Amino acid sequence: MNLCDVKTIKQLMAMFSLNFRKEFGQNFLTNISVVEDIADNCCDDSETTILEIGPGVGSLTRELAARYKHVVAIEIDHGLIPVLKYTLDEFKNVTVINEDVMKLDLGEVLAPYFESGKVSVCANLPYYITTPILMKLLESGLPFEYITIMIQSEVADRLCTAPGSKDCGAITAVLNYYGAPEKLFKVGAHNFIPAPKVDSSVVRIKLHKDKPCKPHDEATLFRTIRAAFEQRRKTLPNALSAVFGELTKEELTAAVTECGHPENIRGEKLSTEQFTALSDVLYEKIQNKQ
Ligand code: SAM
Repeated sequence: MNLCDVKTIKQLMAMFSLNFRKEFGQNFLTNISVVEDIADNCCDDSETTILEIGPGVGSLTRELAARYKHVVAIEIDHGLIPVLKYTLDEFKNVTVINEDVMKLDLGEVLAPYFESGKVSVCANLPYYITTPILMKLLESGLPFEYITIMIQSEVADRLCTAPGSKDCGAITAVLNYYGAPEKLFKVGAHNFIPAPKVDSSVVRIKLHKDKPCKPHDEATLFRTIRAAFEQRRKTLPNALSAVFGELTKEELTAAVTECGHPENIRGEKLSTEQFTALSDVLYEKIQNKQ
């Protein structure tokens, strides 16, 4: 069964009386070699369990199931569940869950798989919710080995640019705190049905087992990054003052200069390590005031 064949996808949709649901970001892959490349490169150990978000009609799911120990596939669209039952029938190592991934307790669902070995994530993510899903995976604190996701090319470029470079955003700095992102390859819009308006790219993130940055307080680190990028045209002390109301402008300026930066620096120039150092100084100043 070639689930990337456009005729087969259309036949399946008709057989189960389904339409492509735009509100769920349903753009299904139609190029089997792209699907194989994603499955081949999403992790390096066949004894791994893969969490797939949004299996669609099951094209990537089948390739993952053929290569890895187990696949847990979360699909929001209940209409696709009978399709997946049909297309994945021959695979005994696939568990399909009909849920919104944003509502699911991933720790609970994946506990037995973490207990018995490694777990990685592999997904062609729906565009409308890419960042919230990625943040949920990272903030879950679950020890995934790799997170491999297909996302809009523009977002992939922002994730994979060097922190401190002009294209980076808050997500770049936060992502580099959790792991090392790498852009694997680009996938043109013509490889999907229906074709989206923009091209996609596959990004693989290797999660740090031991994070190189160890802030005194994670929440203060994320506040510092958010402040810097929310007002990226402002100087860093000014941008910080919008978020750190408990510190005076003088204290914020002192924190920036104590870290060795000129006071007119913009926050977007900082690396994740520099954000961590700054957040430690800010955290101490806040503690000293209490
Ligand atoms: N994996 C398939 C492929 O590559 O052809 C489909 C990918 S399609 C871009 C995204 C899939 O995610 C769709 O099947 C969609 O119904 C599902 N989806 C969208 N939002 C979701 C959510 N919040 N939780 C779980 N699945 C979701």
